[in-house]
Amino acid sequence: MRRFEVYDTLSRETRLFVPIVPPKVGLFVCGLTPYDNAHIGHGKVAVTFDVVARALRRWGYRVFYVQNVTNIDDRLIARGGESGTDPLVLADRHISAWFAEMDRLGVRSVNYYPYATDYVPEILAQIRTLIERGLAYEARGSVYYDIAKFPRYGALSGQKLEALRPGARVAPEPGKRAPGDFVLWKAATPGEPTWEAPWGPGRPGWHIEDTAITVRLFGPRYDLHGAGLDLKFPHHEAEIAQAEGTTGESPLVNFWMHVGLLTMKGEKMSKSVGNVVGLSDAVDRFGPGVVRFYYLNAHYRSPLDFVAGRSLEEATEAYNSLDSAAGRLRSARSSAPPEGSGDVLEASLETAANDTVEHLDEALSHDFNTREAIALLFGWSKQLTEGVAGPERLSGESLDTLLAPFDWAAEVLGLFGATDSSDGGGSLGEVVQIALDARARARERGDFAEADRIRTELAASGIRIEDHGTTTRWRLVGSGG
Ligand SMILES: [Zn+2]
Repeated sequence: MRRFEVYDTLSRETRLFVPIVPPKVGLFVCGLTPYDNAHIGHGKVAVTFDVVARALRRWGYRVFYVQNVTNIDDRLIARGGESGTDPLVLADRHISAWFAEMDRLGVRSVNYYPYATDYVPEILAQIRTLIERGLAYEARGSVYYDIAKFPRYGALSGQKLEALRPGARVAPEPGKRAPGDFVLWKAATPGEPTWEAPWGPGRPGWHIEDTAITVRLFGPRYDLHGAGLDLKFPHHEAEIAQAEGTTGESPLVNFWMHVGLLTMKGEKMSKSVGNVVGLSDAVDRFGPGVVRFYYLNAHYRSPLDFVAGRSLEEATEAYNSLDSAAGRLRSARSSAPPEGSGDVLEASLETAANDTVEHLDEALSHDFNTREAIALLFGWSKQLTEGVAGPERLSGESLDTLLAPFDWAAEVLGLFGATDSSDGGGSLGEVVQIALDARARARERGDFAEADRIRTELAASGIRIEDHGTTTRWRLVGSGG
């Protein structure tokens, strides 16, 4: 197992990572509340922890990666009410869309997506314990956490207890002793999904789901908790108060990782501000590789200010230059001279390739510095341009050596692999080109119905085409995309 260090938000230090029970690593990431389609800010969090899980697995850790799904929530109920849809049905619809989007983005590292509504017994048990210990109280059928009883409340976010305001998701509620007390159980409101409880019918509060799930799956303490920076307060403070208050063990989490927000003109991307760029739109237009590259070409803790018409366009240019360097080597590899023939690399280049791979692992072992990793890949690409005149004459073994840094990128960053680019496309590319030529001929003779038919049939097979002046580009967008 490679040693690495992580910045922990709670201790405000970069520390050596030591698993509680090596080589196992429990990783929990706050998942989505599926009341709407995902935007590109959600993608940043998902891709960040995908890379964390991939790196840890490469380094020999056995990661159990859990991302919850908040399929019952105020916003789901409100949105369901507006459209006359059962909130649980609405949630299912957006969850399916999310899974499809994650698959397109190459995020396949999550082991388990628990749904909040499947953990109601664990939620009830935790609330009961908190009441028994005097940390929570009932009021008019709801149950609240009495934050004055938990002195560490506020330690993660550095908030002073007296300065605490109710969180954005907490409406004023009668019966609460203090404005910062957060809800664990909400008394039933007519028309909402409800479950039976000792305090009367109702539904779980948002924060309690996470700890009901993690205590059940990981036990009282686990290794890594990740999320967007916006969830630090009050959500993660609440998680600490709930879990440590229930189990009596501390700390709940050894390392808290918070991802810098994706902003637009400095403002958080959100429906209410009206500055949302849909994740699926971005992936449709630019392809999954460019979107991943855009996120990873910054440090995960930095905020990323998205500029429409510029950010992803610039990422495309940078991404393409590395992708074509990798693509040239991969295509030379697929037609390399037979085993035992072909030119052998200069020893210095072989050493440089091996060193680059070591430096890439090194970059990620310092708080997952993907930006530095990408800079190293640019450096490697430059060395290739200067040092390799004709890759097609090289032996297969030599090409494997040169490809090693790109293979590392495919494994850990999910970039520049043999299959994640649709620009070349191999034999699929040749078949699509035949269809595109037929469409071009149809347009030339003015048969636009036929041209449209070809476009529609390609789309039905998950191939989206775009006309740019006289050239036509295509990309794989997955079925139904
Ligand atoms: Zn959460």
